[in-house]
Amino acid sequence: MIIVFLGPPGSGKGTQAALLAVRRNWAHLSTGELLRAARTGGTPLGQKVAQYLDAGRLVPDELVTGLVVERVKPGPAGGYLLDGFPRNLAQAADLDQLARAAGHVVQAVVFFDVPEPELIRRLSGRARADDDPDTIRRRLRVYAEETSPLVDHYASRDLLRRVEGRGEIDAIHRRVLTALGERA
Ligand code: ADP
Repeated sequence: MIIVFLGPPGSGKGTQAALLAVRRNWAHLSTGELLRAARTGGTPLGQKVAQYLDAGRLVPDELVTGLVVERVKPGPAGGYLLDGFPRNLAQAADLDQLARAAGHVVQAVVFFDVPEPELIRRLSGRARADDDPDTIRRRLRVYAEETSPLVDHYASRDLLRRVEGRGEIDAIHRRVLTALGERA
């Protein structure tokens, strides 16, 4: 079983994925975290990744899909929470393929709805290397152009669960549970 957490940068999907992963004892795969870990290694791969992260662009699909494929194993126990993947339509197709190969299904896509001014406010308050003003603007544009089409894509497959992303972390967690049909 796979659940995808989708949303713009700063929408809180990472925070919410971590909470749900603990609650369900599922694996939490954050491609952003995996990529940031890769960069700190200082390997040639890490240096390549750093260029994309610092520019606020998407890391090439093959590289990111590779990181996910390595970690999604077949098996009946538990499931996977994907946070930050897929981020474009090509990665969504990769996900279908890798899920099928491992005998999993994408059960739902939880979309965190947060208006852009709120995103800018949140991201400007974070102190990560990829959170300077130019990079923030670039990431929001990349989201709008490349990632947001996934909202319609998954809605048309009846997998999208829209969650209001403003409010307290706990309140949003309960909304996620409700959206997934679980009692809060
Ligand atoms: P945020 O949700 O705030 O954008 P993430 O930690 O999810 O933060 O992602 C940080 C960066 O990692 C992105 O700006 C992008 O450069 C890279 N990244 C993460 N996931 C992917 C992906 N699926 N495909 C390509 N690049 C990715």
